[in-house]
Amino acid sequence: MTAPRTDLAELDLGELERDLAARGVEPFHARQLYRWIYKRGVTDVDQMTDLSRALRETVAAEYGLTTPCIVGDERSTDGTRKLLLELADRRRIEAVFIPDTPAMTFCISTQVGCAMSCGFCLTGRMGLVRHLTAGEIAGQVRVLAAATDMRDQPFNLVLMGMGEPLHNYDNTMKALRMLHAEHGLAVSPRRVTLSTVGIVPGLERLAREPLMPNLAISLHATTDEQRSELVPPNRKYPLSAILETCRRFPLQKRRRITFEYVLLAGVNDTPEDARRLVVLLAGIRSKVNLIPLNPAPGIPYERPSDERVNRFAQILADATLTVSVRKSRGRDIRAACGQLIVEGGPKKSAAQQIALLMR
Ligand code: SAH
Repeated sequence: MTAPRTDLAELDLGELERDLAARGVEPFHARQLYRWIYKRGVTDVDQMTDLSRALRETVAAEYGLTTPCIVGDERSTDGTRKLLLELADRRRIEAVFIPDTPAMTFCISTQVGCAMSCGFCLTGRMGLVRHLTAGEIAGQVRVLAAATDMRDQPFNLVLMGMGEPLHNYDNTMKALRMLHAEHGLAVSPRRVTLSTVGIVPGLERLAREPLMPNLAISLHATTDEQRSELVPPNRKYPLSAILETCRRFPLQKRRRITFEYVLLAGVNDTPEDARRLVVLLAGIRSKVNLIPLNPAPGIPYERPSDERVNRFAQILADATLTVSVRKSRGRDIRAACGQLIVEGGPKKSAAQQIALLMR
């Protein structure tokens, strides 16, 4: 009987070192393997030419390497590229490459589907199918870096694809450790932005992480009544709790928390909303990123006019907030925010999804 093979994709560097040591292999080979897998994108052990033949044989016999498969590759007229990736269990997720924003950016998923049920987001319609493993989260970056030939260039990473990263906390943080490894892609946490609806216990854990990514909070409304409607987890973690946690959040020099605000025509885009937002953010080192809605069939909201967007932005700017308006990229291939969805499936009610979230 052969022992089940260990998946190299799921091991962080320390785990791989210990795993090798347990098999009588010098742990420094872990760094060589990381360099091949992450830095050079080689998945076939036979091509890892600086490993001895004996070691290549051991690795081939005892380990496997699972990598998401590209089953769709769409290019937008603006250069954005959306990869449809298939996982080992045939589930599918999407990962997006956004060039020149001004940096090169990879947008990756943390779950298949999402349990948050935000009223304007297509992924939210799917409900949560499952969490991604750490290897699947980091694997998207390996695949994107190879597909775009970016392994040797710096890139930004945003956890803004499908899923809620703080709902899959351990796997997300492990993936960031794997991507940070010096002999692999060496992605600096300063280049990573984690976007969340604001799950307070998750934020509190994040505040104590040694490898801390930049933080973006999906705010989207300025009263609990409206936010609970648009972003259902607000019923459990209201605005005051999220903002209080943000006030205490340890920020490095010159770092700020980004507050994302989807603008929905006639719903949350009035001058009163903008003024309330100014008051809410007082005392927080923040910047605001306005996202005019990317409309989609089945989403019961509309995108406001540019004029309304500008008026909202101007009120924030007049109150000395730093504000930017997110250009929507890749809309023609449904790669823009909130447009990632790959399988149907019955939509769970918000209450069911909240119950899932609280488990
Ligand atoms: N779950 C995380 C990350 C995923 S989405 C979060 O909620 O932050 C990244 C951003 O896109 C979020 O701010 C999300 O609210 C926003 N978004 C979702 N649907 C959108 C849509 N249809 N148009 C514009 N932005 C949308």
